[in-house]
Amino acid sequence: MKALIWQGTGKVGIETVPDPTLLLPTDAIVRVSSTAICGSDLHLLDGVIPSMEKGDILGHEFMGEVVEVGSAVRKLKVGDRVIVPFNIACGVCDPCKRGLYSACDNSNPNHRMAEALYGAVSGAGLFGYSHMYGGYAGGQAQFVRVPFADVGPYKVDSGMRDEQVLFLTDIFPTGYQAAVNCGIQRDRDVVAVFGAGPVGQFAARSALMLGAAKVIVVDRIPARLKMAEDGGAETINYEQTDVLVALHEMTGGRGPDHVIDAVGLEAHGHGPGALMDTAKQRLRLTFDRITALRWAIMSCAKGGTVSMPGVYGGLVDKMPMGAAFAKGLIFRMGQTHTHRFLDPLMRHIQGGDIDPSFVITHRAGLDDAPQLYQTFRDKQDHCIKVVLDPWKEPQAAD
Ligand SMILES: [Zn+2]
Ligand SMILES: [Zn+2]
Repeated sequence: MKALIWQGTGKVGIETVPDPTLLLPTDAIVRVSSTAICGSDLHLLDGVIPSMEKGDILGHEFMGEVVEVGSAVRKLKVGDRVIVPFNIACGVCDPCKRGLYSACDNSNPNHRMAEALYGAVSGAGLFGYSHMYGGYAGGQAQFVRVPFADVGPYKVDSGMRDEQVLFLTDIFPTGYQAAVNCGIQRDRDVVAVFGAGPVGQFAARSALMLGAAKVIVVDRIPARLKMAEDGGAETINYEQTDVLVALHEMTGGRGPDHVIDAVGLEAHGHGPGALMDTAKQRLRLTFDRITALRWAIMSCAKGGTVSMPGVYGGLVDKMPMGAAFAKGLIFRMGQTHTHRFLDPLMRHIQGGDIDPSFVITHRAGLDDAPQLYQTFRDKQDHCIKVVLDPWKEPQAAD
């Protein structure tokens, strides 16, 4: 089959590799009909998340048709059309039973690697997301092996288009969980969202669906801010205005009641803290550049929530804990417990509250994926979200 392969830091390419096979009776094989490139794939491309190996297949946002099931699989059958959550969960361990699917104790066989790097217990295994998260082959491929097939895959009606449901695999639940974690008080609370990438877009629209009185999205890319405005948010371009002053003014001096950091460890931004983060990250002295998180803490209203769907790893420097403590802020973070949100979000899609395909800016075949990784990373061509069809024939060159 064809697959998108990590070939070294900064380099991905299409290669022909063996088709996946069932390894355990609880596995299924899915023929991928649509797959997407995620912002967090860029952390892998650039080697910010360690433990990638040459030959790894990327991709954790995919859907398709079940073409083979192991002997112990009960809920799925060949021919079912499914979306597959990006995190892999066993469904029976203590965290899974409590709905904490992204903290599954059983799905990451390499948990000791993650523990050695982060100094704490590991979360769940993830598709296409480095060896410290299990070394599972990803879904930017024509086929993928799906472990714990009775737990993750979620059946989709034939009446729904791929583009309407594909983002249930990650970015929609991720943005939604970030908004849920804010505990929004309907028709009162103002929510600021840092980062108008795909997760920020879904966080902003989710906050409005959950009743926020106002949502303010902060970014520096005009096309992304425009998309947020189309979804009902107000916006701040932090390259044109002082973001902390603007947030103060737009909230009557109170500050946003909740702040969502949808940027994570590769924040841009400016000021001495940002420069120091960048220098240290280049030298591998720190994992994270935390400008967005600093702004989130500094701007948030007293007693508010700082909700962090953006990915962090390792240790962070110069975090304004004094300000957070003085204001009594609540911190909520972590990988998304994707499985938990599939029913409610499917109802929102079917009810017409949201059509997640709004976020797609690029559609292509898998062969174009290496080029589109660069386009997306460099934020060229107004790229916000790329969806790939692994079966589309390459365009003949002119
Ligand atoms: Zn993703
Ligand atoms: Zn589990």
